[in-house]
Amino acid sequence: MNKKILVTGGAGFIGSALVRFLLKETDNKVINLDCLTYAGNLNSIPKKIINNDKYVFEKINICNKTLLKKVFSKYEPDFVMHLAAESHVDRSISNPEQFINTNILGTYNLLECAYEQWSSFGKIDNKKHRFHHISTDEVYGELLDKDPSFSEKSPYKPNSPYSASKASSDLLVRAWGKTYKFPYVITNCSNNYGPYHFPEKLIPLSIIKALKGESLPVYGKGNQIRDWLYVDDHVKALYKVVTQSENNQTFNIGGNNELRNIDVVNKICLVLDELIDKKPNNIKKFSELISFVDDRPGHDFRYAIDNTKIKNILKWEPFETFDSGLRKTIMWYLENEKWWQSILDGSYINDRREVN
Ligand code: NAD
Repeated sequence: MNKKILVTGGAGFIGSALVRFLLKETDNKVINLDCLTYAGNLNSIPKKIINNDKYVFEKINICNKTLLKKVFSKYEPDFVMHLAAESHVDRSISNPEQFINTNILGTYNLLECAYEQWSSFGKIDNKKHRFHHISTDEVYGELLDKDPSFSEKSPYKPNSPYSASKASSDLLVRAWGKTYKFPYVITNCSNNYGPYHFPEKLIPLSIIKALKGESLPVYGKGNQIRDWLYVDDHVKALYKVVTQSENNQTFNIGGNNELRNIDVVNKICLVLDELIDKKPNNIKKFSELISFVDDRPGHDFRYAIDNTKIKNILKWEPFETFDSGLRKTIMWYLENEKWWQSILDGSYINDRREVN
């Protein structure tokens, strides 16, 4: 496919995996638009895969509609794949405003700019243009132990400022589809993990803390259940959806890997036990570092995704099992200490201002 794809949030965890995929595996042109918050890191897109005929980076905040409009008229993108967001639930509890601004108002700005650009020659060409909103399973709220997994028909019941802001943006996109015949697709995905994941999230945090011999914090008793998906499997699903789905469809994407947080941390410890002979701080097993901390407010108990629709319609299934994906992820963190050290010591702040 030879499209111009505007990726927002392309310097973040999933966005950078998508940009790497598009540059390595497709002929599309990529406009990576990201304002580089603390979560944005241009080092996640290795220079060796950048071909300047196919890739451009624009450091722009999606809350700035004037600059966004200029990007749309300069590049005239065919597709928008919208991933830019504030994404960390803990931060949404301590600072919800940024989540409302970026996730809701920023999405509104993008819808307006895309609509204006795509309808500037008359009716929008629904075969040429598409707005893909990348969202989360957290919009559905929480499940109890025996509840069936979330399907595309599950009601929205978000519980945190983060999930409420993502639910709001999903609904805006849907409303633009209904009201303005705007061509969109929405995907709601479960928890991702993999390389280049910012060290504040459970899996990279646990790997890095274990390597440093620090305690591994687990909320409550670690009984919360998440459905884990390897990031490269997610990216392949996104590309199938944006290129092959009909318009105005919603797809759930999950990894078929339901695990309790404590089991995830224990699995990380077991792989590290096997890979690292000389353990820090005279411990014999990495699991000795696990420490239970007070649970966070509104912590959802369980998320799980029913993949039937994307499996049947687009023939997508996750390739990695949790064990295979986790091992790849741990190996990546062992081999790419420079990437995560630059985040821990803050030096990535300078690197990430660099424009490729
Ligand atoms: P991330 O926090 O790693 O990256 C977000 C990126 O967006 C960063 O590069 C940041 O600089 C950029 N950004 C933030 N605010 C911006 C703004 N105002 N203007 C321009 N750029 C801005 O997030 P992620 O984990 O890669 O998630 C990407 C998307 O996928 C999000 O929309 C998230 O809700 C969704 N999602 C994530 C997961 C997950 O497990 N990580 C699961 C399901 C859905």
